Amino acid sequence: MLGLMQSQPLLISSLLEFAERHHGDGEIVSRRVEGDIHRYTYRDLAARSRQVARAIEGMGLQFSDRVATLAWNGYRHLEMYFGVSGSGRVLHTVNPRLHPDQIAWIVNHAEDQVLCFDLTFLPLVQAVHARCPTVRQWVALCDTDRLPADSGVPGLISYEQWIGAQPSDYAWPSFDENSASSMCYTSGTTGNPKAALYSHRSSVLHAYAAALPDVMGLSAKDSVLPVVPMFHVNAWGIPYSAPLTGCKLVFPGPALDGRSVYELIEAEGVTFAAGVPTVWQMLLGHMKPGGLRFSHLNRTVIGGSACPPAMINAFQDDYGVEVLHAWGMTEMSPLGTLCTLKNKHLALPPEERMKIRLKQGRAIFGVDMKIVDGNGDELPWDGKAYGDLLVKGPWVVADYFRNEGASPLYADKQGRGWFPTGDVATIDADGYMQITDRSKDVIKSGGEWISSIDIENIAMGHPGVAMAACIGMPHPKWDERPVVAVVKKPGAEFSREDLLAYFEGKTAKWQIPDDVIFVEAIPLGATGKMLKTRLREQLKGYRLPGL
Ligand code: ADP
Repeated sequence: MLGLMQSQPLLISSLLEFAERHHGDGEIVSRRVEGDIHRYTYRDLAARSRQVARAIEGMGLQFSDRVATLAWNGYRHLEMYFGVSGSGRVLHTVNPRLHPDQIAWIVNHAEDQVLCFDLTFLPLVQAVHARCPTVRQWVALCDTDRLPADSGVPGLISYEQWIGAQPSDYAWPSFDENSASSMCYTSGTTGNPKAALYSHRSSVLHAYAAALPDVMGLSAKDSVLPVVPMFHVNAWGIPYSAPLTGCKLVFPGPALDGRSVYELIEAEGVTFAAGVPTVWQMLLGHMKPGGLRFSHLNRTVIGGSACPPAMINAFQDDYGVEVLHAWGMTEMSPLGTLCTLKNKHLALPPEERMKIRLKQGRAIFGVDMKIVDGNGDELPWDGKAYGDLLVKGPWVVADYFRNEGASPLYADKQGRGWFPTGDVATIDADGYMQITDRSKDVIKSGGEWISSIDIENIAMGHPGVAMAACIGMPHPKWDERPVVAVVKKPGAEFSREDLLAYFEGKTAKWQIPDDVIFVEAIPLGATGKMLKTRLREQLKGYRLPGL
């Protein structure tokens, strides 16, 4: 017997329809590429998203055809999120920090037909357009009078020209909720990039989940600043959870330096912000010298790479901002776990609570996870046993777009498919997961594993260290030994020996790095994460002391 409830597909357009009807005057504020501040409402967003849909219809694009963006976080990008997906086409958000060759490769792989870009990325478009034969229309996300006269990009039009003449009375179509809505390529540190292809259903379910109190806890009372880019995993789903809750949205555009982000947080009464640790490092670096304070910010989600304890402490103790440590990946839309306490933890002393907060957190309803050993057997949840972390759920990939390889899923003994995350983790008795390492970064010394994240976290606790990356170096006896590459804070004075002494008592003796290498900068990848492969290349020829 079937239930007798209305059957309504979960579609991205419904999020926008809801916001227009119930939060029509809710504010959306964007810092534009031009530097000025733009303000409008969910009502305006809805009308202009319908114009985008009309412009796409007008070009004769078919259902599921791809429309790409190369853009910062801003209102026009948001209109593309709804206009493209809502009309049944697939939004392909391209990461502008990728190498031009990679960008050309993924635009061709996705067969993008329209590509809309912020003028910041005009040089990039000039470099790749001739190699992207599937793109029939290049659109600059700007006012018509800002369009460069001789861009060298054939047929280039402005976004306002493209959508301006369109009526805004488009009716969002209804279709199967499992239809593709958007796609994002993983950075592909090895081999070609692979695309996660999200569906309307997966995106809407993820939007509900992300807004839950023990996840991001978004509400209509919040003013929300996604610093995390809309070109990488849909800014952690905030563009979808925001209209679902009716919160105020604040977009930073291209200005991601500490000062600009701080000014925006203060000017727009931001209560909640989300970003990767490197961005918050710049923010705290700007605030500390001037003794600046936050007037409204009360919580921030930090994820994408391990959040150093020193950062969690600084936010909490110095600024009264609660840090929610989160873990996820492109293949998971991206949220998997988020770290909030349980009722029973509230009575614990502060140090005990802090130990929990450093973990990557508990699974969100919708995501199941387990850790397994080399034979695929599940390991205990005791906070000590570590193994490969596997996940499954309705917003986890089943396969990659046009994947020519084998299925990425791993079938367990019951025949259920799990996605192997490539992370190594522990899970404790309360279900809190802690990432030990990415499986390719873990350091194998004398048959034991050393967590590069643990070593980096300790190094980052030293007052003179701006950034630290720990990698394994070949050793004839131990297989590998850890060394830590360190960027000093400006003006900091300390030696290799000082830093090695700082490790004493903070980790087991055999885990203390064999060497400290001072570097100008640690190479970062397209999503702001440390690129250890490149660091290893840079340190080619390096030999451990005494070898
Ligand atoms: P890529 O950078 O390869 O495109 P993603 O952006 O999808 O990949 O990143 C996913 C990976 O980032 C995870 O598998 C994990 O290794 C790492 N990661 C994400 N959040 C955290 C976190 N809070 N702590 C440690 N590692 C994290």
